[in-house]
Amino acid sequence: MLAEKMSMTKEFELFEQMSEHEQVVFCNDPSTGLRAIIAIHDTTLGPALGGCRMQPYSSVGEALEDVLRLSKGMTYKCAAADVDFGGGKAVIIGDPKTEKSPELFRAFGQFVNSLGGRFYTGTDMGTTMDDFIHAMKETNFVNGLPEAYGGGGDSSIPTAAGVLNGIKATNQLLYGNDALGPHVYAIQGLGKVGFKVAVGLLEAGAHIYVTDISEESLRAIGEVAVKTTGTVQRVAKEAIYSQKADIFVPCAFGGIINDTTIPQFKVKAIVGSANNQLLDARHGKLLQDKGILYAPDYIVNAGGLIQVADELYGFNKERVLAKTKHIYDAVLEVYRDATSSGKTTEESANAMCEKRIATRGKRNSFYSESVKPKWSIRKQS
Ligand code: NAD
Repeated sequence: MLAEKMSMTKEFELFEQMSEHEQVVFCNDPSTGLRAIIAIHDTTLGPALGGCRMQPYSSVGEALEDVLRLSKGMTYKCAAADVDFGGGKAVIIGDPKTEKSPELFRAFGQFVNSLGGRFYTGTDMGTTMDDFIHAMKETNFVNGLPEAYGGGGDSSIPTAAGVLNGIKATNQLLYGNDALGPHVYAIQGLGKVGFKVAVGLLEAGAHIYVTDISEESLRAIGEVAVKTTGTVQRVAKEAIYSQKADIFVPCAFGGIINDTTIPQFKVKAIVGSANNQLLDARHGKLLQDKGILYAPDYIVNAGGLIQVADELYGFNKERVLAKTKHIYDAVLEVYRDATSSGKTTEESANAMCEKRIATRGKRNSFYSESVKPKWSIRKQS
């Protein structure tokens, strides 16, 4: 009996693995070498939205695990950003440096198109806007395109604006006003997002500590600082974690809140753009125990997503930047809920998203004869 049950489990392993997901599509096109997986996690809020990653995964299992995890994350990110999209993601198995071709992305576009608008996609790690200029020849369900193609262009602009709004909300909670200027920040990474955040803080008159592996970025931020009322000081790569500052602003890579860094932090809060900052959920609890506020990354870094979602209304830069102000309110809401409930901020954020999806789901159960397809209504003869 047990053996029978175990073999059933094995036979249905794939469905068990995707038990939280609506649909998983395996795409195979031998003529171009395309091997991709599209995962649609939840479309309660609207069509699934999520970028397409290209990576030389070592196995199908590894690619599947990644796409399932990332698409679920997109459901929460869309709910937190209050955009009418659900969660999805795609992965292309291959080396982005050597295995790309225009035909491969056109083939991928055809698979996306075959989903009839259930899934919208664009760039992610390993893919560029140029790749999607090929894909868009086969499908309209692509966003995050260059401005010349009707898209919003560089998404790091709204992402940085969102981070600054998250920092303002944090200052509001900590100091009773949201001014950026009178505080000290430690910024890790002066890339597309971090550099713009650093400029915003310098222009507000703040003192910033910065670190990056790029000498050019460090020199450039020094040149900006002399034209502002702010001040900048560079620190060594590993010293950024122990810098005495008000807020640590991680804008380089994930997993930086962990057992090694938590004991080093001398800040009141952590607010930055990096994805997956908590190495593990328990690190959120360790931060809470240490009295450090943590602004959940997927709420703070949603500016790029807000821009991509906005493209469906016809791109408008001012409207997108105005919408990133939503991040200010969302971060404060999470802090307040976590304070009153005793949850970690990550737990509060997740609960807030789940509640939003459940409430919005009710709207979709509103019955209207006019929008039901005729064939779904059994007619009385
Ligand atoms: P980026 O690659 O332009 O910038 C990363 C920067 O970190 C680079 O300047 C790099 O030199 C620096 N860096 C690398 N290793 C470092 C180290 N050990 N110490 C200090 N600095 C180091 O990337 P980005 O687009 O600015 O994104 C930054 C983070 O924000 C990433 O985690 C990304 O996933 C996330 N994010 C970005 C966007 C966006 O719109 N670009 C949106 C959401 C989330």
